[in-house]
Amino acid sequence: MKKNKITIAIDGPAGSGKSTVAKRVAEALGLLYLDTGAMYRAVTLKALQAGISPTDGEKLAALAAETDLSFVRAVDGTYHLFMDGQDVSGEIRSAPVTMNVSAVSAIPKVREVLVKQQQAIARPGGVVMDGRDIGTVVLPQADLKIFLTASLEERARRRWLELKANGFSGTQEEIAVDLERRDAFDAGRAVSPLKPAPDSIIIDTSMLGIEEVVGRILTLASSFFSRQED
Ligand code: C5P
Repeated sequence: MKKNKITIAIDGPAGSGKSTVAKRVAEALGLLYLDTGAMYRAVTLKALQAGISPTDGEKLAALAAETDLSFVRAVDGTYHLFMDGQDVSGEIRSAPVTMNVSAVSAIPKVREVLVKQQQAIARPGGVVMDGRDIGTVVLPQADLKIFLTASLEERARRRWLELKANGFSGTQEEIAVDLERRDAFDAGRAVSPLKPAPDSIIIDTSMLGIEEVVGRILTLASSFFSRQED
């Protein structure tokens, strides 16, 4: 297999560092990066804008199917999500979206629509995808499956620092409550719950810096390539 065709799945709970790490790994290996959480967030945003209840399965599935989502990597290296032609990268991180996204993503038909799109994007290979069900459902044949974890306290601390830099005035405890609520919802749902694939490599990032985590994944990727060449 060519090096630029590897598929890497990175799953884990909220705030475990998935997207930062996944972006860095994609950049280091020259692969496409896909943030699947952003896709669930965009459908949630559109539902809120349209006044659709986050539990109305039929309407949400139809909404997901008619929504055009595309990712663009800007020249400064930041990733932007366009929903029906509009850059919604900021709005999808708002509190109302974060509050409702787990309910929307627990709807099987919404997942069906988005998982198909994710699989189509990954089909040519050469992708790093992060989410909750990438190794288990979206890309069960991924070449490398990573599951990132970290203590609740550390995840809340990281998320709080990130949000504070963007003007958030709440406390770290509030963030911890939200992360715990979302994790419980994501891990407890019937369809595609958050859990490590049996063949995934679990990395606890509580005591590790980003560079160390990225370094470990790059080492795992190069041993995958060496095995291929044997
Ligand atoms: O990754 P992020 O925290 O932005 O994801 C937001 C929410 O989207 C998660 O809490 C989860 O409910 C949902 N999600 C999912 N499956 C994925 C990615 C995200 O259910 N593959």
